[in-house]
Parts: sequence; structure tokens; C-alpha cells
Amino acid sequence: MFSKILIANRGEIALRIIRACRELGIGTVVVYSEADKGSYYLELADEAICIGPAKPALSYLNIPAIISAAEVADVEAIHPGYGFLAENAHFAEICRDCGIVFIGPRPESMKMLGDKVAARKLAKEAHVPVVPGSEGQIKDENEAIKLANKIGYPVIVKAAAGGGGRGMRVAHNDITLRNAMATASAEAEAAFKDGTIYLEKYIVEPRHVEVQVMADKAGNTLHFFERDCSIQRRHQKLIEESPCPVLDEHTREELCKAALKVIKEAKYENAATVEFLLDKNKNFYFIEVNTRIQVEHPVTEMVTGRDLIKMQLTVAGGQNINLKQRDITHTGVAIECRINAEDPARNFAPNPGKIERFILPGGMGVRVDTHIFQGATVTPYYDSMIAKLIVHRPTRDEAITTMKRALREFKIEPIKTTIPACEKILSHSMYLQNKVDTSFIEQHLTL
Ligand code: ADP
Repeated sequence: MFSKILIANRGEIALRIIRACRELGIGTVVVYSEADKGSYYLELADEAICIGPAKPALSYLNIPAIISAAEVADVEAIHPGYGFLAENAHFAEICRDCGIVFIGPRPESMKMLGDKVAARKLAKEAHVPVVPGSEGQIKDENEAIKLANKIGYPVIVKAAAGGGGRGMRVAHNDITLRNAMATASAEAEAAFKDGTIYLEKYIVEPRHVEVQVMADKAGNTLHFFERDCSIQRRHQKLIEESPCPVLDEHTREELCKAALKVIKEAKYENAATVEFLLDKNKNFYFIEVNTRIQVEHPVTEMVTGRDLIKMQLTVAGGQNINLKQRDITHTGVAIECRINAEDPARNFAPNPGKIERFILPGGMGVRVDTHIFQGATVTPYYDSMIAKLIVHRPTRDEAITTMKRALREFKIEPIKTTIPACEKILSHSMYLQNKVDTSFIEQHLTL
């Protein structure tokens, strides 16, 4: 096991990793930007090192600065959290070259699965159903139009390097497809420096269901059941729950098995999430693998009682997972609401500012993962998520009741947050009756 690691991230996930390390007796070094100076979580780490100005390119994405900090502090490993460098294979390679363990997959598997076109191919080879679409990258418009007419509109143009809902465009006919290809490719080029695009059938009104997986160096690969992340705005998740409320036992088993097949085919190590779309007829289709811990991992932790961050650390440290698949069970229902500093009435535009009043909810079945405190300032430089509110109760009805009660208690003033939007969703008859799909917010919610 490691004696000291560096956390190359910020905010709630940095704090989450500090907590796991503290309980495992691992020393922590956290890096921070000038904008995060004064954050309370920095005091909870054993050491904190400033690595540059607010701009991510100059701090949290600044590989030389992070590696220098790791060398100065003499750590054995780096946990990248999520976002920033978490899925950067080049960074993982540099860590390896410097003799520092990257807490995550090998760069080779990250590279392969990070390319969605290559990941689709791998899933197909593992006999896992993928969304009908192009064999590989799509280069010219005529080829795209021919394929779209074959599989039938609507189709979705996606970026091979895509993430965070960027580089995706839906097209309903030949004309909009031409536009979709140009805009998706340009957006991907700007965001990921890779304009490669591919085509998929656009599944109408799907649910987003994903499987949590963990694999050790010896090839033990286990799943931790699924999360339903259908409540999204602009293809970004807002509310997640486990288990998926519309899955029957047989489909759940098939889905989890399919996820394991993909991960085994990739000879993967550490935590991964295999994402699928579930259509109205309960057919599921692979869409992508996220090669890191996800924001929504706590819902899985609550229903399975397993600490996924600790497991990431022990697996990266060379320990085998001492569990069999049958040892992993799930009880009750967990729901997570992402509390973002955003104005839902202005299409979820970021709403940074100083927090004058901050009162946390509590009580039975409530967990809050946040680095925020009264008097903290939410800066405009980073992701707008400031807290995760998670509940775990025996049934879905009870979980919803507890979540509504906790959202009511949670006071974050004067900035605008997603709390009122989450309250509306949790009271909506379609959500209560499990009739939602990924377009629910855009189609049915008046904010
Ligand atoms: P990203 O990596 O940017 O998050 P994903 O491939 O995971 O992109 O897709 C994000 C979301 O976009 C999905 O949860 C779903 O809502 C929507 N989506 C992606 N592919 C399709 C598709 N083929 N049909 C319908 N919706 C899709």
C-alpha cells in the first residue's frame, strides 16, 4: 500500500480522496490553483502545493507543474479524480515514465477506450450490442448520408474524443446531417483537438444506464450493479439513482455481464463505468466507457456498502480484490442530486459568487459530499458543481421523500443553484412513475 499520494484535482473529489486516504493511513499532498487558495479541504491534506494561476491550463492541466510537485513531495502515486487529467493517457504515461503510479487504468487501455470509435469496435468484438451506426470514423458527407438513410433518421453525430456532452449533434434529415457533421466536428476540434466524428442511430427517448466496474492487476473483474442517469440537461447528468427503477432482474444480470465482457476484453485495471442506452423495449446498447471514477459513484457506494475510492487505491497499490461477484450485493435505493451553482431559469448558466449562508441538510439516510462552507466563493473558472446530495433508503418512495426533505433543508444563498430544479423533478408525476428518459428536462420541465 502507498504511504503518500498526490491528488491532482480540486473541490469535492479532492476532499473525497483525502477522506479515503485518511482512513487507509495514506499521507496526502493536494495541489491547488491560486483561485482555490483558502479552501478548507486544503487544510485536511497533509501538504498542499500551489501549482499555478486559476486558469486550468496553467494549473490543474499543467502536467510539468503537477509532476514537479509530485517529485518535490516524494509521492508514490497520483490520483487524478475526475475531469482535468483523469482520462489523459499522455499524463498517465508520463507518470509511469517518472516512476509514479497513476491511480487508474494503464495508458494503453485508456487510449483505446477513450476513443469512442475504437471502444465501439471492442464492444462489438466482445459480442456486446452497440447502437447501430458507422463501422468507424465518418469522413465525408455522402458516406454519412448513405448510412443515415440505411439505418433511418434520426441519427446522432458524435465526436470520437467526445466527453461532457460536447461534440454531439442530432440530425433528422440529409440537410441537418450536413450541418450536424460540420458543427460536431468543429466543436470536437476546438474542445479535444480531434475533429474525428462517427454516426449512431439516435435512440428515441432512451434511459441512460451505466454499470460500475472494478478490476485488479490479476484480472479479477467485478461489477457493482448499475446506476440510472436519465435525468440530464444538455446531455449532462443532474440526478442519478441506483438501482435503475425499470430494470427487471434478468435484464440487470445481462447488462452487468455485458459490462464485464467489455472491461475484460480491454484487459482493464482499476475503476471504470460502462455506459449504455436502454430503449423503450428494454434493449440495451453500449455507448462508451469512462475510464475513471465518476461523479455519481456515491450512489453505488450507498447501495453496495463498498468504498470505491479506497478500492481504487488498494488496487493501484497492487492488492487483489478479495471478493467474489456473489459477495457484492445491493440494498435499498440511493439517489444523488448534483447541486450546481447555476441558474436553471437561464438554461443552467453558471452562477458563481460568494456564499453568505450555507446550511447543510442531515438526518437519517443523508450524505453530502462538498468542499463548500459558509463564506466560500464559487469562482467562475471550474465546473459549477459545488455539492452532491445523496440519500439512501429502503425503497424508492422513501428515498424520494428523504431527498425532498433534505433539499428543503439545504440553504445556499444568495447564489442560484440547481436545488429548486431538483425539487421540481422529484415532485413530477413522470419521475414518480418512472416515465422519464434523457430528454425529460428539456421536454417536460418548466423552470
Ligand atoms: P459524453 O461522453 O459526452 O458524455 P455519451 O456518449 O456518454 O457522451 O452520451 C451522453 C448522453 O448523450 C447520453 O446519456 C444520452 O443522453 C445522449 N446520447 C448519446 N448517444 C445517443 C444515441 N445514440 N441516441 C440517443 N441519445 C444519445
